[in-house]
Amino acid sequence: MKGETASGHIAGKKSDRIPKKLKILKFGGTSVGSPERIRTVARLIRDDAPKIVVLSAMSGTTDKLSRIASLIARDERTKAADSISLLEFRYVEVVNALYNDEPRKKEALDAVIGIFRTLWDALKTSGSAAAEKRILAQGELLSTLLMHLYLQQEGVPSMLLPALEFMRTNKNGEPDMRFIRRNLKKRLEACPGVRLFITQGYICRNDAGEIDNLRRGGSDYSASLIGAAAGAEEIQIWTDIDGLHNNDPRIVRHTRPVRRLNFEEASKLAHFGAKILHPTCIHPAREKHIPVRLLNTLQPDAPGTLICDEAEKGRIKAVAAKDDMTYIKIKSSRTLPAYRFFNRVFGAFARHRVPVDMVATSETGISVSLDNKEQLEEIVTELRKFATVTVEENMIVVCVVGDLEWHNIGFEAKIIGALRDIPVRMISYGGSNSNVSLVIRSDDKKRALEALNTRVFA
Ligand code: ASP
Ligand code: MG
Repeated sequence: MKGETASGHIAGKKSDRIPKKLKILKFGGTSVGSPERIRTVARLIRDDAPKIVVLSAMSGTTDKLSRIASLIARDERTKAADSISLLEFRYVEVVNALYNDEPRKKEALDAVIGIFRTLWDALKTSGSAAAEKRILAQGELLSTLLMHLYLQQEGVPSMLLPALEFMRTNKNGEPDMRFIRRNLKKRLEACPGVRLFITQGYICRNDAGEIDNLRRGGSDYSASLIGAAAGAEEIQIWTDIDGLHNNDPRIVRHTRPVRRLNFEEASKLAHFGAKILHPTCIHPAREKHIPVRLLNTLQPDAPGTLICDEAEKGRIKAVAAKDDMTYIKIKSSRTLPAYRFFNRVFGAFARHRVPVDMVATSETGISVSLDNKEQLEEIVTELRKFATVTVEENMIVVCVVGDLEWHNIGFEAKIIGALRDIPVRMISYGGSNSNVSLVIRSDDKKRALEALNTRVFA
């Protein structure tokens, strides 16, 4: 199935020239965050196995570029110029530390200065959304360039694959899969024999052909889209932690890596707060049945986490918590017929294009949780025309995932039992076979995650 959908009929015979065992390896900002880390990644990718390496910007760079763009937009040009200088100086230092071969160092320096010219030019123009996106794109262009030239210095043949020539979004801002597939294949087929491609995560062009991006943290998404488009055999997301943990290691002690998840479980965990993986990343891989492996740059031989089609039966896998949620309780006024109540409530959310996260219902009431507060006031005003509305902020959603099919007796009881000392606002179970979600107060987060750790996972 995989090979068939992957090669498709579009590219026909020619796609035989795309290596069969192609892997996608994505390295995040901290993995390329210093000259030492760039060298470490270079060591990890230099074998001859065919691969496309997708890089984020060096850590901190996209934040700095974003600040530069806002300073320009606010017309604070002196501050913007200072920030550009500082960042450019940092990259000059990286170049000095990374290359010992003089001609290579000179080439890298010229290239870095060339990329910074885009920023200096932006400083002379007035800020706009398009200008901001052009500025934001420079981080990935820098990191991939540095890696490529470093590999050259080390005698490792590699080729830069410009993401701006094949990554594209359509008029809805969603990836244009046909365009991506066609153009990526064209590029790969034009370079038979190349085994190591380096490309940029995050950046793309939109349907107007302007430079754009897949939103913050979007490099994971790039890797998954590239894997799906090229029919890769595996997508690897390399970070600084040994796979996805069963609980939040920043809050709870004694968490452990989960070795295997299915796509549904992983996507729930990413959506509900597991920081290791961007929520959008799962979908393209899942559609093409391409396994995703989460690996650790600092411990490359550790097994990490494998995300694939098959679920492990009969196991509760992990818990994640999503912060900053709002809980809304909507109680119908008597004048509205019950059969119209649901429609009016969800109509209000739909009109403001605000997705509802969780729902619990009774005959005359609906409670929902939201992670998007942008239109909250307008929505509440609309709901108050026919209902009594209570809004509570500073809530979180705790999401427990695993094999939670209804015939697994006792699993829900175990989860709810673990939280017996914690006031629970809302529970959702049955919407999928792989999770139970609960709304609780932010203040109870640590207690709840610890209780689940000792009572469910110990
Ligand atoms: N550099 C981008 C960001 O910081 C994309 C990424 O790292 O995934 O958001
Ligand atoms: Mg990231």
